[in-house]
Amino acid sequence: MQTTLADWKPSSQTVVHDLENLSSTVLSWMRKQHFFSNKEVDALSHVKVGKMRRNATQKHGVCRYIRGTDVTCPGLGPKDVDRIDIHPSLLCNDWWDYAKQVMYHEYLHALGHYAHDNAFFRLENAWEDPDRSRGKAFTELMRRANAKWLWVCSNCSKEYPRRKKSSGNYKCRSCNVVLKDVKIN
Ligand SMILES: [Zn+2]
Ligand SMILES: [Zn+2]
Repeated sequence: MQTTLADWKPSSQTVVHDLENLSSTVLSWMRKQHFFSNKEVDALSHVKVGKMRRNATQKHGVCRYIRGTDVTCPGLGPKDVDRIDIHPSLLCNDWWDYAKQVMYHEYLHALGHYAHDNAFFRLENAWEDPDRSRGKAFTELMRRANAKWLWVCSNCSKEYPRRKKSSGNYKCRSCNVVLKDVKIN
């Protein structure tokens, strides 16, 4: 069984962006939109931004409220945010478009939109270049980068990179065939 793990390693990371560049790029876009006030954008500019663990796969950004915050309070906003963390592997040219989407998403949470409700999605979709496929592609890339096992379908040869063995517990999404475990070296 040949695996093509090398093809999945993040490429062209020669120009690496920093978090400051990311937050200021997104905030200056937000400042130009009529649906955000200057006061809101100013408050967001004081929110601390950091990096998540590099081996996170499905979470690409997180808005951490200060411990004990009542997230149902109508006054929820940037003052209640401890920090926003962004996946460090997004800070490269290949993922810059998606990095900005993630940063914007977390800033919406920081503005007090705790839930992914209709109001949240309306704002999120107002982003200059919303592309839902990028999140899935990044998850897949991170799974490849962190995988110890490939769950392989013997029917269609599809590979599912994962940290743990499937141990006969999972089936191929397309074929409904039980997946086999192949160790990645
Ligand atoms: Zn969210
Ligand atoms: Zn299959």
